Amino acid sequence: MTTKSSYDKNKVILLVYDGLGDRPSMNGKTPLQAANTPYMDEISEEGINGLMDVISPGIVPGSDTAHLSILGYDPYKYYPGRGVFEALGADMELDKGDVAFRANFATVDEKMKVIDRRAGRKGSKELAETLNGLEIEGIKIFLKNTTEHRCAVVMKGENLSRYVSDVDTHEAGGIVKECKPLKEGEDEKKTATITNEFVRMSYEILNEHPVNEERRRRGEPPANIILLRGAGSYEKVLSMKEKFGFSAACIAGASLYKGVAKYIGMDVIPVEGATGKADTNLNNKAETALHALEKHDFVFVHVKGTDNNGHDGDFEGKKEMISRIDKELVARIKDADAYIAITADHSTPVSIKRHSSDPVPVVIKGEGVRKDEVNKFDEVSVASGALGRIRGIDLVPILSDFMGYYTMYGT
Ligand code: ZN
Ligand code: ZN
Repeated sequence: MTTKSSYDKNKVILLVYDGLGDRPSMNGKTPLQAANTPYMDEISEEGINGLMDVISPGIVPGSDTAHLSILGYDPYKYYPGRGVFEALGADMELDKGDVAFRANFATVDEKMKVIDRRAGRKGSKELAETLNGLEIEGIKIFLKNTTEHRCAVVMKGENLSRYVSDVDTHEAGGIVKECKPLKEGEDEKKTATITNEFVRMSYEILNEHPVNEERRRRGEPPANIILLRGAGSYEKVLSMKEKFGFSAACIAGASLYKGVAKYIGMDVIPVEGATGKADTNLNNKAETALHALEKHDFVFVHVKGTDNNGHDGDFEGKKEMISRIDKELVARIKDADAYIAITADHSTPVSIKRHSSDPVPVVIKGEGVRKDEVNKFDEVSVASGALGRIRGIDLVPILSDFMGYYTMYGT
């Protein structure tokens, strides 16, 4: 056995299951309690366990703010608005002051009533290219199709503001909303005017577009408008390396998480077959994580499927997904030469099909951790663990100390 010198630095793999936490429903059990998870249980047995309030008790986290918190960035200070993460996740260039949105192609009738919020799964790339690069009042607007009907939109120019309302109706049947300033100010007024003009122009251009003519011929509804929401404003923040001292990598399928990672200066490592859905290739994620550990100190691995099952109210699906992650991902990384931490970004109980503030389980395994009596990784068992109840924002500092990149206060 070799003894590490106190100057050696350690590494971490942080595995985050999206929406893993739940409430008891089937036979009084949560999907995590009901799932078959021998490898996570082994980590629990060897590690220190606890519960985590990702933002703070009673606050329901969004996936975006939750990840900022878990990765050591106070969301109340660092959250730039969702659109920024979408644009970064889509590999778009952002400069200070740019305003970014999430967007989707939709179908509207001539009275601007939304018939379908998710139109044009095919042909979206071509439609996005048609709108890309438009200029309104000196503001250049760039657009990139991400998956299916989804796009990221970036406005570049002077005096823009993220404080404008959504155009998206969020459900079919409503009339396309007018974008309104959410604060008193010239920048807000200007951004709202440009947004409304862009949406109007998108209808004019897309309604007559050959892709939509073809769709009509086939009897499909046209993707004849783009609806914007989630405005965000970009500003460069300290990278994890600058803030904590170690290099960090992200392994994720869905673009939101890649966007969060880029925002805080992580290297985003592409994974073959990582889809951000249930069919994601977990074996590849595990291999990529182990490989990333060679060059990075902190490797964050994200799995999305569990949250989707929660939103669908699918207990069995969530249980199966958890079991599969254990077998295909956890089994492969559990003995890596690194601290292993496992947690979730929030709970998504199948009984309510939305995120909730219920705290999530967390475990850390590695040299020197105060191993406790817990031997099963689930929402209830971990509550008696030695880590107690922490906040999301505490996780990276705790891991940093184990890694040897600690902050000392006082002498
Ligand atoms: Zn989430
Ligand atoms: Zn969710």
